[in-house]
Amino acid sequence: MAKKAKNLAFAVDVGGTNLRVAIVDDKGKIIVKNVVKTVRKGKSGNVVAEQVIREIKNIAPKAKLWEYMKGIGVSIAGPIDLKKGRSVNPPNMNFKFVPIVAPLKKEFKLPVHLINDCNAGVLGEKYFGAEKKYNNLVYITISSGIGGGAVVNNNLLTGKDGNAAEVGHMAVDTKYNVACTCGKGRGHWEAYASGNNIPKFFRIFNDLETKFPSGAKDIFDAARKKDKIALKFMEELGRINGRGLSNVIAAYDPEIVVLGGAVALNNGDLLLKYAKKNIDKFLKLPKIKISSLGENTPLLGASSMVFELSCG
Ligand SMILES: [Zn+2]
Repeated sequence: MAKKAKNLAFAVDVGGTNLRVAIVDDKGKIIVKNVVKTVRKGKSGNVVAEQVIREIKNIAPKAKLWEYMKGIGVSIAGPIDLKKGRSVNPPNMNFKFVPIVAPLKKEFKLPVHLINDCNAGVLGEKYFGAEKKYNNLVYITISSGIGGGAVVNNNLLTGKDGNAAEVGHMAVDTKYNVACTCGKGRGHWEAYASGNNIPKFFRIFNDLETKFPSGAKDIFDAARKKDKIALKFMEELGRINGRGLSNVIAAYDPEIVVLGGAVALNNGDLLLKYAKKNIDKFLKLPKIKISSLGENTPLLGASSMVFELSCG
């Protein structure tokens, strides 16, 4: 009997809010997908791997499908420790470590590939997005945090632990000197411009004691309604994003920068309008656009690891 082609992968995207599990084919087609809330509390980070195992079993009830499974790709919010196969102090979760590779391998007897969610993002764009033709691209997610992944000369940059291109923790400001949520520095891009931190920066910028606005969405909505304070803030947020993007361009010399994550997906037009005029022109300006893959980018990138499309 001919050997079955193993052209399917389990793709898992463990976020601080949502856990996405999918079966993806080697062309990047999502055959089935399920989204649940990530377990964020428990006696140890093992509860996350246990949840991933449950969700994989839930999504592949048909035994026959297992014959086509080449492996499991897991994207998780960084930083990660590739050697130990785990996430370290993942944002929005109360765990020091979240072990992934060992428990999944033990349960499913399949190869397991772990990748930082932003590196997964850039691979998703590179292999399955509209950006296949580029050998130099950077993916930046602007969601609850800010992160990045870079493909340079057709190679995924990983760094010693798998966390190259953690661009959210590049310093972009000394004027306000805001302490970053990572707890490890001040003036980091994420401290100003991530979904969780935009409202805080808005209050600092306006010297407001009031709790309004409650979320980043309120500020973007107000700017769309031409609210004067919100528009003034958009200029300043644009200056910060312009600094961040200038750093990214100087570091990686990309042909294209793709923005993903909820803030960019929902308000990318406003973000880009105000950021672009603040980007240094030291290097030729790359194309800068919003992801065509939406929230599926890290899932697809995780599956590309299974199909060994990655040269990283
Ligand atoms: Zn930071």
